[in-house]
Amino acid sequence: MTTYNIAIDGPAGAGKSTIARKVAKELSYIYVDTGAMYRTIALYLLRKGVDAAQESAVAAVLPEIQVSIRYEDQAQQMLLNGENVSGLIRTEEVGNMASKVAALPCVREKLLDLQRELARTHDVVMDGRDIGTNILPNAQLKIYLTASVETRAQRRFLELTQKGVDCSYEKIKEDIEKRDDQDMHREIAPLIQAKDAVYLDSSDMTIDEVAEKVRSLCQQGR
Ligand code: C5P
Repeated sequence: MTTYNIAIDGPAGAGKSTIARKVAKELSYIYVDTGAMYRTIALYLLRKGVDAAQESAVAAVLPEIQVSIRYEDQAQQMLLNGENVSGLIRTEEVGNMASKVAALPCVREKLLDLQRELARTHDVVMDGRDIGTNILPNAQLKIYLTASVETRAQRRFLELTQKGVDCSYEKIKEDIEKRDDQDMHREIAPLIQAKDAVYLDSSDMTIDEVAEKVRSLCQQGR
């Protein structure tokens, strides 16, 4: 059986998950959020007080961590040693820790099989940083979705304030810039556009426009 795989990579806050979720729903594919997998490992390390800068300390506890996923009403649920942690991994603290630990080869290695196996057995829209370049080099459609730092920070600021979270635009922008720098300049699986990926800048596009573009690219490719 050949499955159809769509890879969406790009920096934090570009709208990858919103677009990936929407396109997956419309095509009846499953949406795989790989960032959530890194966040799940990050949560465990934060709880244990493990220093992400010490690779040997992280490697030592990795065998204790079982990351698995389950779908409820098409929504991906993250399980950490059987505990549903989906509601706990969306904080900036966990995101920043995820970005640090994602630079470690032992962590990436741990998640590689889970990601590839999902794509081998299902039609997927998978988003992350290295999906088109590393995890699914043969994906039938690859998108590199980005937006200006200001747009991404503004979107995150609105999202958080709408949820009633007290936050500062400047701090969010700083965090995004730091995360971009970490993700783009790490040695292993850095965030770069795959040669055969379609570049989409969503700064001046609505969610519907981006989703429509991805769908039409998908139809052209089928
Ligand atoms: O996409 P999200 O913000 O949830 O990802 C959290 C962090 O996980 C990213 O900043 C990135 O460092 C890491 N990540 C990664 N590779 C992926 C997905 C996420 O390195 N495929």
